[in-house]
Amino acid sequence: MSDVKYYKATEVAEKSWQIEYAFTDQEHVYCYLIEGQDTALLIDTMYGYGSLREFCETLTDKPIRLVLTHFHLDHIGGNTEFDSCYIHHLDIANYLDSKLPPREEMLKRVQAEAFPELRDLAELFDMQEFKAVPAYPLYDGDILDLGGRTIEVVWVGGHSAGSVAYVDPKSRIAYTGDCCNSNTLLGFGNSLPIEDYLKNLLHFKHYQDQFDVMYGGHQVLPPSVIDEGIELCARVLAGTDDHEEMESMFGRKIVYAAKHGASTTERADGKLFNRCYSPEKRFACGKTARVINFDPMPMF
Ligand SMILES: [Zn+2]
Repeated sequence: MSDVKYYKATEVAEKSWQIEYAFTDQEHVYCYLIEGQDTALLIDTMYGYGSLREFCETLTDKPIRLVLTHFHLDHIGGNTEFDSCYIHHLDIANYLDSKLPPREEMLKRVQAEAFPELRDLAELFDMQEFKAVPAYPLYDGDILDLGGRTIEVVWVGGHSAGSVAYVDPKSRIAYTGDCCNSNTLLGFGNSLPIEDYLKNLLHFKHYQDQFDVMYGGHQVLPPSVIDEGIELCARVLAGTDDHEEMESMFGRKIVYAAKHGASTTERADGKLFNRCYSPEKRFACGKTARVINFDPMPMF
């Protein structure tokens, strides 16, 4: 491993760390480490630049178990360094099928984004070659016992069918991945219809009194964002949302439920929650929550 320091951590609660990239300020991606008396839990592994495992071992001496909020590549890139992982059962098939960019491409991205003094120091062997390590299924309501500290798995499927939040009532934190934020993307192949997402947000709301903050994969938000998400789902289903058409990162048209202000990241009305979605995928058409889409869609 080169001398580049890829990660840094902030202790956000007792024995709870938010981990982010230290080599750049252009990647707003987070993962989290929580330590119990027996086990430490790593929630997501970001892109796989440098050794996340070695960095985590500077924070805890407990055995580290890996859990995922969902299968997208900016959350699973460092999985290779672990023997196995836990992920909601509805995301397992997509996870096992995941293909990440080759290491050469990862290195180019790191060099493009790194602080100038680090650009020439990053090495190809710093990049993790992705391998989908074995995955154990998680189900809504599962309790993860870390010893003196328990974390509950809450299914908030929508962004991906198997997206979850991990609720830590002791620290009053929910670790939410991408399940509910200012840019909740619901336009992917295995995203759920808005009607199903609404049911799952209402389910998540049952836990709202157990946490004061939501630490996500890209943002830190207050729990009131869940209420804004519920309200906006109802407007989409009623056909009364703002329906703002925009160009997506994949070059196709997508629809945002609430219109943006002067910047393309903030809502015109000042609220925090927003989502994009496929207009044809508002209502659930069957009884199953699972959506099978044979049309491969690029992820990122
Ligand atoms: Zn995602």
